[in-house]
Amino acid sequence: MQSFVYNALPSRVIFGSGTISRLKSEIERAGCNRALLLSTPEQAETLAPIAASLGSLAAGTFTQAAMHTPTDVTERALNKVQECGADCTISFGGGSSTGLGKAIALRTDLTQIVVPTTYAGSEVTPIIGETKNGVKVTQRTLKVLPEVVIYDVDFTLSLPQRLTVTSGTNAIAHAVEALYAEDRNPVISMMAEQAIAAMGRALPAIVNDPTNLDARSEALYGAWLCGVCLGSVGMALHHKLCHVIGGAFDLPHADTHTVILPYAMAYNAKAAPDADAAVARALGGQDGTSALTALAARLGSPRSLKSLGMPESGIDRAADLAVQNPYWNPKPIERGAVRALIAAAWAGEAPKPLN
Ligand code: NAD
Repeated sequence: MQSFVYNALPSRVIFGSGTISRLKSEIERAGCNRALLLSTPEQAETLAPIAASLGSLAAGTFTQAAMHTPTDVTERALNKVQECGADCTISFGGGSSTGLGKAIALRTDLTQIVVPTTYAGSEVTPIIGETKNGVKVTQRTLKVLPEVVIYDVDFTLSLPQRLTVTSGTNAIAHAVEALYAEDRNPVISMMAEQAIAAMGRALPAIVNDPTNLDARSEALYGAWLCGVCLGSVGMALHHKLCHVIGGAFDLPHADTHTVILPYAMAYNAKAAPDADAAVARALGGQDGTSALTALAARLGSPRSLKSLGMPESGIDRAADLAVQNPYWNPKPIERGAVRALIAAAWAGEAPKPLN
């Protein structure tokens, strides 16, 4: 008999094509009438007609969201909240925009409506990571869980190929780690396997034809499930490595996840045989490591930390950081083995399951 604890996270999810047309009624449904719209500078142009369509419900826009939620950007956004008397935020974009909406909610409790346009999954997690003076601090609190998520697959059509692949693999990583989480449970494990399978079908189809709406839809659906996995159970070695290596060497978030994932799977495969088997079932393959490696090859994913700009001289520092305050992991975190993992990922060598 398996004992477990399952915590359901409350959020209202609207999924489909053209669902942005529901934004106005969702703002009203939430009892709000002064929305502050948030995006990165790159997505400001896409945001403008959305803001215009809201008429008087749009109180203002703030288009300076940035990766890793820097607190100085949050301070500026909070000034904008005050200035326009906002009573809710609309985060439009990937994890960077969502992170800013969460940072505002943390300080003001404003209602959040999120329109995700990548596969990061932050919109359904109670997690926020904020960066101050170059140090990123992550916390879990229900205060930052968005109330409403509007998935509109149409906005993902413009996601460039590389970001589609890396953001999609970032999502898969949430589900893989959920399968061997210390606090895993059958509901989230079922979701994780489905999510990996959906991503495994959708991503190659999108690489083949980025305008394939069915594949885009399946990827966004999979990304939602992967996000629920991330929000519901604890993450392990993979997320720790991405957090410290990405932070220490200023590497792109989703790319770092993409390179590390097969190596983290290889590290944990023997210690987490059920998770390994589930990944293999979901993707079709002999084992989790080879299935993830084959998917990466098929997608033309970035394969080495070296190619992302990490210096070879950083391998020891990365290993030191990875073993400090380690997350729980199915296989104990040992510096020698972790260093070997990082060195192999740096060079892009084939990942080999540990004994
Ligand atoms: P991102 O939000 O930084 O987006 C990357 C770039 O792609 C940006 O320039 C953005 O404007 C652009 N973009 C996004 N969607 C697009 C689209 N559909 N078409 C064209 N361009 C588009 O990247 P991300 O990977 O989504 O998010 C990364 C951030 O999210 C990191 O800070 C990470 O720590 C955080 N994150 C947080 C959680 C959480 O639960 N708290 C989960 C995952 C990621």
